[in-house]
Amino acid sequence: MPWNRPLIIGLLLVMLALSWWRLQPDGEELRRSRLIMGTVVEIMAAGEDNRALETAVEAAFNEMQRLDKLFSRYNPDSEVSRLSQSQTGGEVSPETAEVLTLGVEIARKSGGAFDMTLGKLKSLWAIDEETPSVPSPADITTALSGIGPQALALKGQQLRKRSPQLQLDLGGIAKGYAVDRAVAILKQQGVTSAAVNAGGDMYLLGRRPERAWRIGIQDPRKEQGVLETVQVSNRAVVTSGDYERFFEQEGVRYHHIFDPQTGMPARKCQSVTIVTDSVALGDALATAVFVLGPAAGLNFLEQFPQAEGLIIAADSSRHASPGWASYKVVP
Ligand code: ADP
Ligand code: MG
Repeated sequence: MPWNRPLIIGLLLVMLALSWWRLQPDGEELRRSRLIMGTVVEIMAAGEDNRALETAVEAAFNEMQRLDKLFSRYNPDSEVSRLSQSQTGGEVSPETAEVLTLGVEIARKSGGAFDMTLGKLKSLWAIDEETPSVPSPADITTALSGIGPQALALKGQQLRKRSPQLQLDLGGIAKGYAVDRAVAILKQQGVTSAAVNAGGDMYLLGRRPERAWRIGIQDPRKEQGVLETVQVSNRAVVTSGDYERFFEQEGVRYHHIFDPQTGMPARKCQSVTIVTDSVALGDALATAVFVLGPAAGLNFLEQFPQAEGLIIAADSSRHASPGWASYKVVP
């Protein structure tokens, strides 16, 4: 068989490129994304062995997809949907119990600012749907009746609904929990450096080769603007903002984080970023602080010594918790 010179040269070039890639002192870096829980989830993982990284990342995505099947409000067969349909509640899986236990704690400590019983209100506003509009005050009152943290009682894996019509919504905490589980899977598979980002719910595992991870905090009113940068390792960085899911009617912005007292989008903040040790906690805290606003929000955060926060208030003023400075990269 005659030598096929272009092919040989091509192969040599590929081998060279591969060996160069392999000789990189930083090892391999893998980036993958998948649509889960209505969000593009991105995982970046670094290590020595590309195949092992690929397997680990795949397993992490699969775990998140499995959890979505438990928590989704859009899947009528999910555990959360079944609880919403049931009159009295029932037994839940260990995963759902874990999410609910944390959620109930944050609901209690935030005086009900964080509330997993807003399912009806969420459907009423339909912010994620094609043509959302502002509901009538009467419809809002109906959607709020009988709800609130006191309407849920959890004992071990037994959830009791005190109000039969109550519909659960884990949208303020479930994505964070799923990211925590993805990180646990990556760690189990031997990954020591990774970033998982589910639409602003992030975990930064280990370090990059040269230093800790650096995360830019978006300016809520400038799409490409970065307000501050934090440097973290083995931390969750979670942002709740009014700029990702919203619609405008007569010049007013209506977004997806609701004040349970009014049934209206919470008005005191543009964004809240929390740095803490678990994404589930960060997710719930960011949502709670967003509702509470800067003054009450910073007060509330004092109950969580492992969490620091940066609040961008409605008037664009910045408010940080005392320990925030330890993460901030000074330009
Ligand atoms: P994102 O989903 O953009 O990460 P959040 O974590 O702040 O943002 O969660 C917002 C979601 O949480 C809403 O879409 C809704 O499902 C739910 N939610 C809205 N208001 C509240 C609230 N006061 N307490 C708990 N969950 C809420
Ligand atoms: Mg949240």
